[in-house]
Amino acid sequence: MSAHQKAADYTIAKTKLGLIELLVSAVVLIGFTLLGGLQWLSAQLLQMVGSGMTYQIGLIVAFALISSVIDLPFSYYRQFVLEAKFGFNKMTIGLFIADLIKGVVLGAAIGLPLIWVILYLMDKSGDLWWLYAWLVWSGFQLLMLVLYPSVIAPLFNKFTPLTDASLRDRIENLMKRVGFASSGLFVMDGSKRSAHGNAYFSGFGAAKRIVFFDTLLSRLAPQEIEAVLAHELGHFKLKHIVKRIIAMFAISLGFLALLGYLKTQAWFYTGLGVTPMLDASNDAMALILFMLVLPIFTFLLSPLGSITSRKHEFEADAFAAKYTNAQDLVTALVKLYEDNASTLTPDPLYSTFYDSHPPASLRINKLLGV
Ligand SMILES: [Zn+2]
Repeated sequence: MSAHQKAADYTIAKTKLGLIELLVSAVVLIGFTLLGGLQWLSAQLLQMVGSGMTYQIGLIVAFALISSVIDLPFSYYRQFVLEAKFGFNKMTIGLFIADLIKGVVLGAAIGLPLIWVILYLMDKSGDLWWLYAWLVWSGFQLLMLVLYPSVIAPLFNKFTPLTDASLRDRIENLMKRVGFASSGLFVMDGSKRSAHGNAYFSGFGAAKRIVFFDTLLSRLAPQEIEAVLAHELGHFKLKHIVKRIIAMFAISLGFLALLGYLKTQAWFYTGLGVTPMLDASNDAMALILFMLVLPIFTFLLSPLGSITSRKHEFEADAFAAKYTNAQDLVTALVKLYEDNASTLTPDPLYSTFYDSHPPASLRINKLLGV
């Protein structure tokens, strides 16, 4: 099978699965709302535990569990059928289950206290609760940016210092040229899950680490690795990451303000198949309903995000071409797009709306000044 044919087949298979998922989530949305699923769930919980904080948290947990169970067959199919068919899956069933258990435990350990705080603020801090909730949410996001590389990611992958001396020299030299300080170069065992390759850096300030997937190191030549890293450093140096975080904060403030308004409107509940309670708090229900309708708003925002992201990609490519050899980035891109079976010539309209990265052909032409 040629690389091009494989990329086309892979794209079609992923799009088909995406459509089925979209259809199922529409059915689930209607089931939860108009068909009375949430109303029923709420009534069962009220009978069991009354209308206090236990009910509030219980409703959110029950909703999250049901949604995860519905999602599970899709994750399984994606990994063990779709990815496996195209030779990308490296995961065992054991690892899949271990990841699942870790994910649930971690989600509970982090999510439950956060939900408790947000529900508490909704109930006790008056009309401006959404502003306080936003401060808590933003602080939480920043904390995760710090904790993720050092605490959470190591639960799922092994990170070992990069030992290849000549590659280290090459990279340290590049970091000096662009003026980037990092607390370490690491190799991640990405190959235990997938054949897809990647490089990224994470963390904040002096705690920034550069992480290479072992799959990337084994596939690219040293000068290509340098060019890919230069692209990633470009995102940092050109402040793309800071801009992204600021945009994320601004959007979540807007959404929370919107929820602050919707929570007080009876039609928001009744329109979605729920009768609001008059003698008890509807906060958890408002949160769930909002989560359910949120994709509609984020869908409307997605072209905006994709346009910005693609602009950033071109800028980071230009940055890499300035500090390394453009030709090295071109050959690296061809290999990476091939390994990810990304089609080199996607539908332009689809690509403009959804793709965070420009098509390979456009990036390569730009790098070569065509
Ligand atoms: Zn990029």
